[in-house]
Amino acid sequence: MKIYINGKFYGRDEAKVSVFDHGFLYGDGIFEGIRVYGSNVFELDEHLKRLEYSAKAIMLEMPWTRQEVSDAVCETCRQSGVTDGYIRLIVTRGAGALGLSPKTCHDPQLIIIADQIQLYAPEVYENGLKIITSATRRNSPAALPPMVKSLNYLNNILAKIEASNLGYQEAIMLNNEGYVAECTGDNIFVLQGGKLYTPPVSSGSLTGITRQVVVNIAAELGVPLVETALTRYDLWVAEEMFLTGSAAEIIGVVEVDHRKISNGKPGPVTGKFLQAFRERVTRDGTKL
Ligand code: PMP
Repeated sequence: MKIYINGKFYGRDEAKVSVFDHGFLYGDGIFEGIRVYGSNVFELDEHLKRLEYSAKAIMLEMPWTRQEVSDAVCETCRQSGVTDGYIRLIVTRGAGALGLSPKTCHDPQLIIIADQIQLYAPEVYENGLKIITSATRRNSPAALPPMVKSLNYLNNILAKIEASNLGYQEAIMLNNEGYVAECTGDNIFVLQGGKLYTPPVSSGSLTGITRQVVVNIAAELGVPLVETALTRYDLWVAEEMFLTGSAAEIIGVVEVDHRKISNGKPGPVTGKFLQAFRERVTRDGTKL
């Protein structure tokens, strides 16, 4: 494995950032999680666009062009021999003084890691996921907008810990008004009456790249898609439900808050979307 840091490659044990980096001290930075399938970096351009929006939102000036970052991602995969796997791209504010102000940070760090991934065991895709609503609310857009993919994930980590303590692998997070926002690392879709529903990003979720892929698939399959505020009730009575994310891909949910979804197996529409998704992963993106 070779890890990219600001134009150079390092071995796993040699790759290091400063303890004065504000990414480490304060979570002051942004990141992307990207998949590579059969030497195709899936939706790389979309991920880099979101990275640029995150940077703009936190006023972090990236001194690299999109093409330079794209080339660095591909070269990291080649150097690490990864043709199928997961890419973690991190941009930190860089090293500075101990105070909060980023004014003393003059050298943002671009770090890229390419590795293998298996978020859930294969049987979870077959049997579906059981999830629970967490008491921890998603960050308000008035505080740290959830659309920013920042290095500050403690909010989601607290929800994940809660779920894990109760024996669940994933948790639903609500916004301050009590509407469904997203899971700790995935967007949420439900099927009801032949229509697919997902909360708008303004309900407090990340602008998921996989979410957008599913929106595109829905248009192609002729499945009506409605972006509207959802309550927990909408999830409890859903005919089907699935989560989307670069790491999780498309995964069926079969139980929410102890209520069985449909017959307790991932549904046929979820299967159709997963199949359409699989066809795209080696097609839409940037070739190594
Ligand atoms: N929500 C959160 C909080 C996430 O961290 C992620 C990414 N893991 C997603 C949704 C899904 O986004 P994407 O499809 O771009 O991976």
